[in-house]
Amino acid sequence: MKTPASAPELSCRELVELASDYVERRLPVAERTRFEMHLCYCAPCKVYLKQIRATIETAGRVVEDDLSPGSRETLLAAFRDWKKIP
Ligand SMILES: [Zn+2]
Repeated sequence: MKTPASAPELSCRELVELASDYVERRLPVAERTRFEMHLCYCAPCKVYLKQIRATIETAGRVVEDDLSPGSRETLLAAFRDWKKIP
């Protein structure tokens, strides 16, 4: 499920989906801007991006399977809990 490109904000789930493209500079400028805006206010996504970058530094490229099993689900669950905090 995709949010229309005109949507003002990226969701955490979208960010996770776009993270490898972002790091490898494959995102169009508009998407890239939305991505960076999201990072300005979303700490959990910064952590996720860090993890992606660390994977690239280690492997030389993004291989999603290198992330620990279930890590994406764990992160998304953490995002959900984090959003509940006022
Ligand atoms: Zn986020």
